[in-house]
Amino acid sequence: MIALINNLLNINKILFSLLESFLILFIKNPIVPKSHKPVNKPYRKIEVDDMPPIVENNKSYDYQVLLKEYKLKHSKPLKPINRRKKSNISSSTYCPYCGAPKEYLYENNGSNGQLLCKVCDNTFVPNSKPKKSVTFRCPYCGYTLEKIKDRSNFSIYKCKNNDCDYFIKKFNSMSSKDKELYNKDPGKFKLRYIYRDYNFTLENLASNTPNSPKIDINRAHNSLTTIGYILTFYVNYGLSSREVSSVMKDVFNVSVSHQTVLNYAQAAAYYLSDFTKDKVENISDILCGDETYIKIKGKWRYIFLILDPVNKIIVSNFISKNRDTFSACSAIKSALDCFSKLPENLTFVFDGNPIYQLAKYFYSKHGINFDIKTVVGLTNNDIISTEYRPYKQFIERLNRTFKDNYRHTNGFGSFDGAITYVTLFTAWFNFLRPHSVLDNEVPIHLKELDRYANMPTKWAKLIELSQLHAIEKEKERVFSEAAA
Ligand SMILES: [Zn+2]
Ligand SMILES: [Zn+2]
Repeated sequence: MIALINNLLNINKILFSLLESFLILFIKNPIVPKSHKPVNKPYRKIEVDDMPPIVENNKSYDYQVLLKEYKLKHSKPLKPINRRKKSNISSSTYCPYCGAPKEYLYENNGSNGQLLCKVCDNTFVPNSKPKKSVTFRCPYCGYTLEKIKDRSNFSIYKCKNNDCDYFIKKFNSMSSKDKELYNKDPGKFKLRYIYRDYNFTLENLASNTPNSPKIDINRAHNSLTTIGYILTFYVNYGLSSREVSSVMKDVFNVSVSHQTVLNYAQAAAYYLSDFTKDKVENISDILCGDETYIKIKGKWRYIFLILDPVNKIIVSNFISKNRDTFSACSAIKSALDCFSKLPENLTFVFDGNPIYQLAKYFYSKHGINFDIKTVVGLTNNDIISTEYRPYKQFIERLNRTFKDNYRHTNGFGSFDGAITYVTLFTAWFNFLRPHSVLDNEVPIHLKELDRYANMPTKWAKLIELSQLHAIEKEKERVFSEAAA
């Protein structure tokens, strides 16, 4: 019976691929206009300065401390302002930067109400918050960095001091030809110290978690094994929810609507998400990652996958609207969470997208260090590309497997639908899919699944294990809350 189904599915697959070849051969204009396809542009090389800036916390100014410092330095106290006219400043006004009272505040710009603090030299409008809570200074010259750009994930600050050691050293090391070019187009060269201030923190990085299930899988009309069959067709064989619905009717005479298929998938993913994350351990200290396009509700979105190329385990999956530094940091976070202690030589292999360098920089600011190796282009032009290309090729194959599996669904109807699919795909890849390189073993062996000979029963057991896992975790949470 199962052999028959397998044969049918194989024939189905062959038909699909034949059909595709014909489509590629004969349809010169694809249904999706070219302009709608995402374009791969070469990345601009970015250079990141390792040295952090000197951070001056403006809020921590205390006018009393500043007054004492002044007295020490000048051997006389800083006197309150001697006014010829009566001031309009209300007695409830204080400098928002150092807390100095009105006796030290000048009416700097009378009509607009701007005041100047004699103690800390800051200007402000009464009752306003300080403009910046911090000032960044160049670590090479102490000059205040100037904000030059606001990006979606960070602001860029630059040292514009022409006497800066950093600038002078870089400028002097240029060839006379480059100096000439620089005078014509200074934007082409990076000669000045740059600092990026991120607008997100470690705590607010995102992770993909499926929404709460729409149905209770344990009270479902169909048995867990039937749901196992449905997931086998939907995930292992990459059939669309409508195709799964037809196969279930045609082969088993079981009626499930395509919406029920999606509901089962979503409920299974809800439990498997945490379970899969928690079962990833003892991974290698070299990981490779990549981002690729997927279609959600007709729009191109991004999926980030990070893989342990030695043990063939997917350690992180992240779906995002944007291909930006925040998403790269979020994807890396799930990978870092797999380690109880970060290995010293942790290395990620990525393509040349600068978001990964910026992510590395973000983490180093939080005391989390790892190395990034970049493999670019299709040919090996450098030693690093040659050494790490096999890893890169492996993640590219994984991306293709993922795309092959979800292609027949013609994109996802919702963000949650995409998260559901990638969660199930990851569970299948890590626990159920034998790998030739691993002597036809699965990447993560669960001994509880050994008793089960076929995929549907393995899926059913996997769902059961993940539900038990969720109950255990909930118990732990309640106990630790009671103990606290
Ligand atoms: Zn002040
Ligand atoms: Zn400087």
